[in-house]
Amino acid sequence: MERLGVNAKVSANDCKSENISRKRKIAEHRKSLPVASVEHLLIQEVHRNDTLVIVGETGSGKTTQIPQFLFNAGFCRDGKAIGVTQPRRVAAVTVAKRVSEECGVEVGQKVGYSIRFEDVTSSSTRIKYMTDGLLLREALLDPFLSRYSVIIVDEAHERTVNTDVLLGFLKKVQKTRSRSLNDSLNAENMHANGLVVENGNNGKYASSLRQYRGRKLPPLKLIIMSASLDARLFSEYFGGARALRVQGRQHPVAIFYTRKHVSDYLEATLITIFQIHLEESPGDILAFLTGQEEIESIENLAKDKIQKLPESKQNIVVIPIYSALPSEQQLRVFAPTPPGVRKVILATNIAETSVTIPGIKYVIDPGFVKARTYDPNKGMESLIVFPTSKAQALQRSGRAGREGPGKCFRQYPEDMFYKLEDSTKPEIKRCNLSNVILQLKALGVDNIMEFDFLEEPPRQAIFKSLEQLILLGAVAHDGKLSNPVGHLMARIPLDPIYSKALIVAGQFNCLEEMLITVSMLSVESIFYHPREKLEEARAKMKCFSSLEGDHLTLINVYRSAEEFLNKKKLELSKEKVEKSLKKWCKENFINSRSLRHARDVHSQIREHVEQMNLPLHSCGDDTIQFCRCLAASFFLNVATKQPDGTYRDCASGEVVQIHPSSVLFRKKPDCVIFNEFVQTNHKYIRNITRIDRLWLSELAPHYYALQN
Ligand code: ADP
Ligand code: MG
Repeated sequence: MERLGVNAKVSANDCKSENISRKRKIAEHRKSLPVASVEHLLIQEVHRNDTLVIVGETGSGKTTQIPQFLFNAGFCRDGKAIGVTQPRRVAAVTVAKRVSEECGVEVGQKVGYSIRFEDVTSSSTRIKYMTDGLLLREALLDPFLSRYSVIIVDEAHERTVNTDVLLGFLKKVQKTRSRSLNDSLNAENMHANGLVVENGNNGKYASSLRQYRGRKLPPLKLIIMSASLDARLFSEYFGGARALRVQGRQHPVAIFYTRKHVSDYLEATLITIFQIHLEESPGDILAFLTGQEEIESIENLAKDKIQKLPESKQNIVVIPIYSALPSEQQLRVFAPTPPGVRKVILATNIAETSVTIPGIKYVIDPGFVKARTYDPNKGMESLIVFPTSKAQALQRSGRAGREGPGKCFRQYPEDMFYKLEDSTKPEIKRCNLSNVILQLKALGVDNIMEFDFLEEPPRQAIFKSLEQLILLGAVAHDGKLSNPVGHLMARIPLDPIYSKALIVAGQFNCLEEMLITVSMLSVESIFYHPREKLEEARAKMKCFSSLEGDHLTLINVYRSAEEFLNKKKLELSKEKVEKSLKKWCKENFINSRSLRHARDVHSQIREHVEQMNLPLHSCGDDTIQFCRCLAASFFLNVATKQPDGTYRDCASGEVVQIHPSSVLFRKKPDCVIFNEFVQTNHKYIRNITRIDRLWLSELAPHYYALQN
C-alpha cells in the first residue's frame, strides 16, 4: 500500500486564544488535520484512477475534508454532486453540519444531508452526506446515479449490509457509465421495456433509464474509505484498485482490565465514570453502551449521583449520543464545555469510528455491542447484545489517544480479551435479506445468485428471505417483483413486512391505524419504566392499554399525544407546546424522544402512502377489523399458547414467552401475532396482539394451507 507521509505539527489545542474568531479556529483546525497536507496528492490520484481505496486513522479528516478537496478541485462542475455515504444516520447529520460550518454556509445549501425520514438538501447541494441505504433508494429513480460525479463510500470497514450491496451496485453503475451510454441502454432495454409493459404506473425505473438516451455521462469516480487496515479486500473486489494510506497520529493509551468477571457491566460502567471523575486528571470520558435504553438508564443514574456529590465535585456533565436522538441534540457532544467541567459522553458504537469527538482522554469499554443475528433455518432475526471483536476493542481504546496519552478501562478481565473474535462478521452474513432482495429486484437484479457480492451471504438465508417475499406477495413465482404489490413495497422505506401491512390496511379500511402502528414500531421503546418507579409507571401505562394488545395500546398513546398537542396549540406558542408535550410524556412515563421520532416517521410515511394513492381511512371503533388486519399482515409471526403457558412460534416451532413489557403479559391469550423476537436469557416475543386462530386460514390461506 502506498504511504502518504504526514506529520502535522499544529494541534486543535493550539488555537484556544479567546479573541481568534471561530472561523479562524476552524481554518486552523482544518489545516492541522493529517489529510490536509496530502490534498494535492489525493486529487491527483483521483484524476488518475476511477476507483481508489483510502485507509486512514479515525479523526485524520477523511470524512470532513476529502469531499471539500474534491469540490475545490472542480468535481462539481456542470452541476454534478459529490455523494458521501455513511452507515449511520448520526454520522451523516453531524458531519454535514460540521462541513457546512467549515464552508461558511447553511446546511442544506452547498452542503446537505439526506437520511431516511429527513432530507436537508436543495438544488444547490453539491456535497451530499447520506446513509448507504438512502443512496440505494435514490438509485431506484436515478439508476446511473447521474447527478453524481464522485461517490465516496465511507466507513466501508463497518460492512453493513447496505454498504456491501451498495458496493456491488456501484461496481455495476461504474462499468455502465464508462461504456458508451447508448450501448448500455440497449443492454438494459429488455428489462426496462418489461417493466413498462407489465406495469404502467410503476415504470419509474424504465422511464428513468430513458431519460439518459443521447446524454453523455462522465465516468463515475468511486472512493472507498475505511478506518481499519483491511484495504486489500476492497481493492481486489474492484479489480486491484489503488489503495492509499493516510498516516494519522495516535498517542499511547494505557489499557486497564478488571481483576474479576463483572456481572453487571452497567453498574461497573457507572462506578468507573465516577472513579475517573474523582481520581484522574482533567479530560473527557467516553463510555460505549449498546443502545438507547442503556444510555438513558445510565444517564439518569449518573445525573442522580452527580446531585449527591459535594458541590466542588459537581463539575461534570453527561451527554448521550445515539441514532434516534434528534439531530440538534446529537451535536451537543461537540459543544465545548466551560473550563474545568468534565464531559461524559454515553455513546453507542457510533463513536467507535464514525464520529470523532474532540477532548476524549478516557474510554470505558464494557465490551459489548448490539448487533443483528439471523437464523435462516428458523427465519428468525433478532437484536442481540454480543461481546465486541478484538478489532472493535482496539478501535474503542484508540479513541482515548487522539490528542494526547489516554487511558482505556475495559470492563472485563484481560484473558477475556484474548478470547474475543478477531473481527466482526459482516452483517450480510447474519441478517434477514428480504429487504436487500426487494431492493435489488427493484433495481433490476432479478437473479440474486448472480449478483456480484463483496462476500456472498449464506445461500440458506437467501432462500429463506426469498420465500418470505413470495409469501408476502412481493415476488412472483418467476422471481420478479409482483405487480403492483412488490413494486409498491419497494417504494416504502420500511421493513417489507411493514410495507405490506400498509398495503393490506388499505384494503381493510384501517390504514390510518396501521400508519400509526408501523411508525410506533419503527422506533425504540415508547414506554419508559425506571426501576425505582416501576409501580407508578405501570399504573400510568394502564390508562393507555387495550385489551386486544400492544398495537392498539401504542395507537392510544399516539392519539392521546396528538389530542394533547392540538389542545395546547390553541393556547401556547410553538416552543411552549413542545415543552408541555415533554412534560406530558414525563408524567405518563412515555419516552418523549421516541415519541417525537415516531411522529417524524409517521409524517414521512404518510407522504409515501398519499403519493401511492392508498386509501387513508380509519376503522373507527371497529377494533376487530383492525386486529383482523394485523392477522392478515403479520401471519408469518403467529404464536400459540401451550398447555404450560409458554408459546410456540408457528413458523419456527421455537418456544417463546410473552415479554414482560407487553400488556398481554399476564393475560396470555390462546393465539397472538407479534412483531419482534428478542433474545436475552429467555426467548421473548414483543409487540403482541391477540387474534382468533380461525382467522388465519381465511386471511392467509396460502400459508396456512401450506403449513397443514
Ligand atoms: P475521519 O473521517 O478521518 O475519522 P473526520 O473528518 O470525521 O475524520 O474528523 C476530522 C476532525 O473534525 C476530528 O478532529 C473531529 O473531531 C472534527 N469534527 C468532526 N465533526 C465535528 C463537529 N460536528 N464539530 C466539531 N468538530 C468536528
Ligand atoms: Mg470518518
